[in-house]
Amino acid sequence: MSDSRVWSYSAVLMGSPILLKLFSHDEALASRVFSLIKQYEDLLTVNRADSQVMDINHAAGRHPVVVSRPVYELIKCAKAASLLPDSAFNLAIGPLVKLWRIGFKGDSVPAADEIAARLRITRPQDVILDDAAASVFLAQPGMEIDLGAIAKGFIADRVRDYLYQQGVSEGLINLGGNVQTLGAPQGGWSIGVKKPFAAAEALVGSIEVVNKSVVTSGTYERYFEQDGKLWHHILDPRSGYPLSNELDSVTVISTDSLDGDIWTTLLFGLGVEKGCALLRQRQDIEAIFVSKNREITLSSRRQFRFTPLDASYRLTD
Ligand code: ADP
Ligand code: MG
Ligand code: MG
Repeated sequence: MSDSRVWSYSAVLMGSPILLKLFSHDEALASRVFSLIKQYEDLLTVNRADSQVMDINHAAGRHPVVVSRPVYELIKCAKAASLLPDSAFNLAIGPLVKLWRIGFKGDSVPAADEIAARLRITRPQDVILDDAAASVFLAQPGMEIDLGAIAKGFIADRVRDYLYQQGVSEGLINLGGNVQTLGAPQGGWSIGVKKPFAAAEALVGSIEVVNKSVVTSGTYERYFEQDGKLWHHILDPRSGYPLSNELDSVTVISTDSLDGDIWTTLLFGLGVEKGCALLRQRQDIEAIFVSKNREITLSSRRQFRFTPLDASYRLTD
């Protein structure tokens, strides 16, 4: 939004451009927010050898690992989401993510028997939790937890809590795909919904929210092309292949960004029709589906206002 009272601070963390907007000039607060993000990234990353999550992975098939409470609670929540009936979300997807290497050097379609072998070590039931000890044990050798789909949401929520605690009542944090907002400057925060496979600034619409998280997951974020097909980074834990349906992206509006992260993946797995049906039972989660055939479907619009911005897309709610 263009408001002369807004101060923007940026950094690159978790491999993404991070943007913080505040209504006061407070360099010190911004740098405390960025260190908080970095602190959590250090606990949760699987892109380096030495995080708490990697400690769990290194001990797979051997012994439980005690982790800090917030990491334990996040893993517990991720396991519960993975065990929902027919869930497309799976916290133990690590071996498949590593096999596909989507978005990294050398990505190509793996052999079917390799995919089948990895599927056998991605069972969420084999993530064994001990509440009293706050320990996590991966029961099969080779298992790997991957929190890549939810780390940003979890961290965005921690930043929101920290800002409130610091007396900030209006602000925004964008962790690259995960936006969490505080308050309602000029009646609401305006957040763009990206146009799939277009220039970074191109939008299919924008939404206005107050005190909400807005999370988008899109096939266009990371992918490679082979054999005339597009292979993207959101994998179907049931087949071991990228989720394949009518969708280009799903945007979820919720209070907590962690819910937004989990639901974008669940809804990607369900598709538009089943996704909307499930959301009718949820007051707190709303979604914007953008389909390959250029349709935009809103599950409802209780928590946001939507403005279409691209005439080549049709709104179908
Ligand atoms: P984005 O990278 O656009 O934020 P997501 O939030 O959906 O997209 O996160 C994608 C990442 O989540 C992948 O790179 C991988 O690390 C992990 N992942 C892929 N498929 C799944 C899945 N089915 N369940 C849980 N995590 C997944
Ligand atoms: Mg994400
Ligand atoms: Mg997601």
